Amino acid sequence: MFNVDLHSHSTFSDGTLTPGELVARAAQRGVALLALTDHDDTGGLEAARAAAAEHPIRLIDGVEISVTWHGQTLHVVGLGVDPSNAALQSGLAATRGGRVDRAGKIIAAFEALGITGSRDGAQQFASNPRLIGRTHFARFLVRQGVVKDIKTAFKRFLGGGQPCYVPHQWATLGAAVSWINGSGGTAVLAHPGRYPLDTAQMRALLAEFRDLGGTALEVVSGSHRPHHSAAFAAHARQFGFAASAGSDFHSPQESYHDLGSLPALPPGCVPVWERFSH
Ligand code: AMP
Ligand code: MN
Ligand code: MN
Ligand code: MN
Repeated sequence: MFNVDLHSHSTFSDGTLTPGELVARAAQRGVALLALTDHDDTGGLEAARAAAAEHPIRLIDGVEISVTWHGQTLHVVGLGVDPSNAALQSGLAATRGGRVDRAGKIIAAFEALGITGSRDGAQQFASNPRLIGRTHFARFLVRQGVVKDIKTAFKRFLGGGQPCYVPHQWATLGAAVSWINGSGGTAVLAHPGRYPLDTAQMRALLAEFRDLGGTALEVVSGSHRPHHSAAFAAHARQFGFAASAGSDFHSPQESYHDLGSLPALPPGCVPVWERFSH
């Protein structure tokens, strides 16, 4: 089987491996086609490309853009984007700016609970100074001994409805798709099984994503439950989407799904990587 992994993170967002380490690990684990898809930043792609030249692996230039749709945070992966595209870069820069504002509010929420030092603490884990996210705060809480692991940090503090969760307005779905498509990329709705939408809301999202120029659904995802892949394969067929597969790997220590060990797409899917694998 052709081993693909089209969703992964490096130290340029909230992963713990450098782009070079990530590419080496993927190659060592048998991945033939890898996309680096850091949150709202393409800064890791250059180093990833240099590393890919040293291994039997093909790299796709990717990004994972944070979006707000009807009050719900969604992630849209762009595959095969052109990192030198000006509109894409200005969109990503604006999105990262929103992260800085949100981080200030997260820090204030920690102070209100008597947890101090989270500004410097989180920043120490954010090796890309342009990109701060909740995972960096979660790692700070683990290091301080406030919680035992990242998962608990989200469950008790940073996840939706928890005391340090700060609602935020990300990019619109239309903007994210247009930045991706406008730079020659392919827009993929990331881990659709993770959004708390009922069937009618999910169908509305998929129709709108298709009409805005979305191309694929992440049918197989490291952050899906087993039943999600059959369900989203059916949605993909109905709406005419191609299917993608990605581990959403962040770290050898923290990720549930390692690189290169994804199940196959369900039968009847059109693999999105057909457009990249020649
Ligand atoms: P942000 O984009 O800064 O709001 O952070 C989102 C990131 O937090 C995701 O990409 C995951 O890496 C991480 N995350 C979200 N929820 C959880 C969770 N329950 N457990 C572990 N990591 C999580
Ligand atoms: Mn992440
Ligand atoms: Mn995501
Ligand atoms: Mn991701």
